[in-house]
Amino acid sequence: MEQAESTASVEGQGTEATASLDAPYSTLESRAHQMFPTLNADEVERMRRFGTPQRWRAGEKLFSVGQVGRGMYMVLSGSVQIIRRDGLGREHLIIELGPGMFSAEVGTLSGRPSLVDGRAQTDSEGFVIAPDRLRALLVAEAELGERIMRALILRRVGLIESGSGPVLVGHGTEPLLLALQAFLRRNGHPHTVIDMDAERDCSCLSEFANAPATDFPLVICPDGRVLRAPDEGQLASCLGLLPEFDPAHVYDVVVVGAGPAGLATAVYAASEGLSVAVVDCRSPGGQAGASARIENYLGFPTGISGQALAGRAFVQALKFGAHIAIPLEVKALHCGADPIRLELVDGRMIPTHTVVIATGAQYRRPAIDALERFEGRGVYYWLRRWKPNCARTSPSCSSVAATRPGKRRCTLPRMPRKCICWCAARGWRPRCRAT
Ligand SMILES: Cc1cc2nc3c(=O)[nH]c(=O)nc-3n(C[C@H](O)[C@H](O)[C@H](O)COP(=O)(O)OP(=O)(O)OC[C@H]3O[C@@H](n4cnc5c(N)ncnc54)[C@H](O)[C@@H]3O)c2cc1C
Repeated sequence: MEQAESTASVEGQGTEATASLDAPYSTLESRAHQMFPTLNADEVERMRRFGTPQRWRAGEKLFSVGQVGRGMYMVLSGSVQIIRRDGLGREHLIIELGPGMFSAEVGTLSGRPSLVDGRAQTDSEGFVIAPDRLRALLVAEAELGERIMRALILRRVGLIESGSGPVLVGHGTEPLLLALQAFLRRNGHPHTVIDMDAERDCSCLSEFANAPATDFPLVICPDGRVLRAPDEGQLASCLGLLPEFDPAHVYDVVVVGAGPAGLATAVYAASEGLSVAVVDCRSPGGQAGASARIENYLGFPTGISGQALAGRAFVQALKFGAHIAIPLEVKALHCGADPIRLELVDGRMIPTHTVVIATGAQYRRPAIDALERFEGRGVYYWLRRWKPNCARTSPSCSSVAATRPGKRRCTLPRMPRKCICWCAARGWRPRCRAT
């Protein structure tokens, strides 16, 4: 990503175009050519039939951070700047797209709000491919589709590494800040965290210096909106992560749960042309998303992290047009009539002909008084990415579920100063061991 970022200057307040030091250990350095490929004339021609011709004047905004864009923009002549911008007004030029290059990232597949700005640098022309046509292109043009898909994924990874998106401002290890951070990380959404205590002198935070403690954590969205101590649902809705459900549309299949089973169902059903929605109350990947390394998943002989597996499955489901809604919790199933209706906790109904319930298992939790009070603030479940800041300095507890015989060992990548570990598997009584 960093090599791909231009060092040319960008007009605008707070612009820092030399972003090349942001992520010095980026694994993407050698992949700029895959992230921003220049397609040849034949490939552009094959894409043209999926798009609508457009012209842009110098300085014209093609799409803006936080706004739903029209799809992928292919440049035929002229030049378009792609700029990332956060809610604090900081801008970074990512790349200048010339002829044969295209805008878009993973979110474009499902018409999600843009994570970057696109601005014509000169009078330019090209064509726009709407999200549904882009998905059709990826399926119809297999080899070209593979290259485009790889570019979209790498761009999302680059945005995550460079820390664009919403800015979370809070105090150290407060539970809600950690929860929002974990939510965005597990949903593969770029974000930045500013610790008010560590960066007290940061001038960009002066306007929040006197905010009451109850306002924290603050979330400054890229479009400038400020959320005060939001929950995950409010954050997701502000970022445009939740699709609207048309009450008149009856899905062929609605899947409850976006773990490996739910996402696999979505990929198979959507790839057969069925209309599919997936609803999950947490994040894609389910329990598997918390696994540091899965060795026994078919097709990955060298193993794969749960997060990577979930990310791939999630994008694959989007590619085939599944509507994925996270975080939304299903409260009830009304199957007395056709169509069946799924009731969400917010009261909305989703009509469908078929429901697949892939809600996984629930952990047996230790019977300890008032345990809920300490969850996320010393007691953790699903301990994949240990919180290094708090873990090294404060005593912490973790609960790890082993679901198979032989999987009774708990793997903690970075051990906290003190760890108590419960392992629960079939036939086991929870055990408690202090170290
Ligand atoms: C740390 C860890 C490591 C693991 N490592 C391995 C391994 O190496 N190999 C292996 O084979 N297995 C491993 N497992 C087990 C494996 O992850 C699970 O067997 C697998 O994830 C089950 O998939 P699933 O889709 O059935 O359910 P889950 O992964 O549990 O997904 C269910 C999803 O449903 C959602 N959901 C539940 N109720 C609702 C509702 N009412 N509304 C909306 N959404 C809802 C949940 O949020 C969740 O995302 C591991 C598990 C953990 C926790």
